[in-house]
Amino acid sequence: MADRPALALARAALKPVLDFALPPRCPGCGAITGEPHRFCFDCWSELEFLGDPCCSCCGLPFGFGPGGEEHCGACLADPPAFDRMRAAVAYADIPRKVALKLKYGGRPGVAETIARFVERHLTAGQDAVLTPVPLHRWRIWKRGYNQAALIATALSRRSGVEAKVDLLDRIKATPPLRGMNPSQRRDAVRGAFRVAPSHKQAVRGMAIILVDDVYTSGATADACARVLKRAGAARVDVLCWARVVKEE
Ligand SMILES: [Zn+2]
Ligand SMILES: [Zn+2]
Repeated sequence: MADRPALALARAALKPVLDFALPPRCPGCGAITGEPHRFCFDCWSELEFLGDPCCSCCGLPFGFGPGGEEHCGACLADPPAFDRMRAAVAYADIPRKVALKLKYGGRPGVAETIARFVERHLTAGQDAVLTPVPLHRWRIWKRGYNQAALIATALSRRSGVEAKVDLLDRIKATPPLRGMNPSQRRDAVRGAFRVAPSHKQAVRGMAIILVDDVYTSGATADACARVLKRAGAARVDVLCWARVVKEE
């Protein structure tokens, strides 16, 4: 049981070699493409890339308007514990398929694809530290890896910003948040995270970039940022692959 994550890591390390031998495929639909980590034309044209103008805190796109330092109504009414959240694309069919391939499809190479798209939002200094939203230990045993840790590691490789994948612990297994309203989500993740005891001292004064695959209501990112700030983190930014722009 205990060596499952190690096995998964070994598999993840082998994967680039296996990928190399196969023709590169579109991370969205699986069509053969000319180059690795490239979407085919159809999938590419469906992606909605996020950027300015948006809420300077949570990254919610503004249809028009100044962007800059503006905050959206939700962030003004109830400021999140994180300083800045950015995602590469709006959550929709193709980004969902990509996230599922990474999460359940045994395709850790997708983390590299995601890192390429998320990297442009990485504005923190080189002294910042990348860390993933943690999974509960049971889930890691079941799945073999934490998809957010794979993205954080791939981002670290590309950017040179250090990754510490075990800064946070998930001490409570949380139910799937799908279908819950924002306050139910907040209740569900309350008390779910803590700073790993071995990193408590190091977090003080640290600029942290929290990495996750999908940002839905922000409850999870907020809960993680809250414990990091409470432990003395100077700044917490959040980077995600896809952000829900309209709640389903
Ligand atoms: Zn495609
Ligand atoms: Zn906002």
